[in-house]
Amino acid sequence: MVNLDLEKISLPGLDLERPWVIAGPCSAETEEQVLETAKKLAAEGFKIFRAGIWKPRTRPGAFEGVGTLGLPWLQRVKKETGMFVGTEVANANHVFEAIKHGIDILWVGARTTANPFAVQEIADALKGTNIPVLVKNPVNPDLELWIGALERINQAGIKKLAAIHRGFSTYDKTKYRNHPQWQIPIELKRRCPEIPIICDPSHISGKSELIYEISQEAMDLGFDGLLVEAHRCPEKAWSDASQQVTPENLKEITDKIVLREPKI
Ligand code: PEP
Ligand code: MN
Repeated sequence: MVNLDLEKISLPGLDLERPWVIAGPCSAETEEQVLETAKKLAAEGFKIFRAGIWKPRTRPGAFEGVGTLGLPWLQRVKKETGMFVGTEVANANHVFEAIKHGIDILWVGARTTANPFAVQEIADALKGTNIPVLVKNPVNPDLELWIGALERINQAGIKKLAAIHRGFSTYDKTKYRNHPQWQIPIELKRRCPEIPIICDPSHISGKSELIYEISQEAMDLGFDGLLVEAHRCPEKAWSDASQQVTPENLKEITDKIVLREPKI
């Protein structure tokens, strides 16, 4: 058993009912794209917005995010839609900047979770805050690295912690971009029963057509929530275009999800 000292994740005035849905574009591209996407999501009833502003890309030369410039755009989302906002942090400076700009939720990306020094730096920067932090699984199927990252952040005093399952890279070609290997989050739940687990069907699937079936599977396994990439115009997205859905489409998907008695 892994002992984590956890507290229920809460956001002021929001009742986090299962499945909690965090939705928004892979990347914040322009102020207008961020605002329009957020307003459409808010109109569909979604309450928590995601957008990556620091984007660790696998190969150089791809769009690496707008950086700190995007933080005031997220502040506008909060002000103009009432949504809570979250972004990915990959180093201590990202943590300081995000907190300074009133970001409500932070997450650690899959490439960062694989690096204990980077996770420790983030954990140290988080000390003294009470911000909810979500930790994605590492890119490789290593449950210990995932648990280690959760422990480092928890030991820095972050009790509002959750895990995000985003699948695992494999060299083999499968129908998924990142293989779900459901047994790994299931084992995480067995070893840390208190940790909420959120599924990221977008990075598992790599394609919008699979978002529904992966989300339903996650709910059948008793997951607590979903992190889904949604964009006002997915085909024009600057990153991860093939896996994003429109806000309207996301509403259809979440309406279709049936909450059954969990299989595990
Ligand atoms: C993301 O959520 O946009 C992202 C970069 O995901 P991951 O860290 O899972 O690759
Ligand atoms: Mn993405």
